[in-house]
Amino acid sequence: MSPVKIIIIAVLLYLGYRLLVGDWNKKKDHGADKSALDGQDEGPVADVLIEDPICHKLVPKQQAIRLKSNHNNEILYFCSEECCNLFVRQEGENE
Ligand SMILES: [Zn+2]
Repeated sequence: MSPVKIIIIAVLLYLGYRLLVGDWNKKKDHGADKSALDGQDEGPVADVLIEDPICHKLVPKQQAIRLKSNHNNEILYFCSEECCNLFVRQEGENE
């Protein structure tokens, strides 16, 4: 085997290694993003802020009043029971 061939093979191996490492890093980043979103959906995170649909105040999810909407079974969050009651009344009027 000539030295030139050995160098070419070494360069190819190096490029292949770089490609593999690059792909692995990208996959790792995507996985991290996805797991962060999953964490938000499950809701054990203390500092997630959600918007009150009545007064548009931002409320920490864990302290908010929860209400399941009758329209689409979506969970809604309110800063206080007053806002929750207002929403229930508005939702009743719309029907
Ligand atoms: Zn409110």
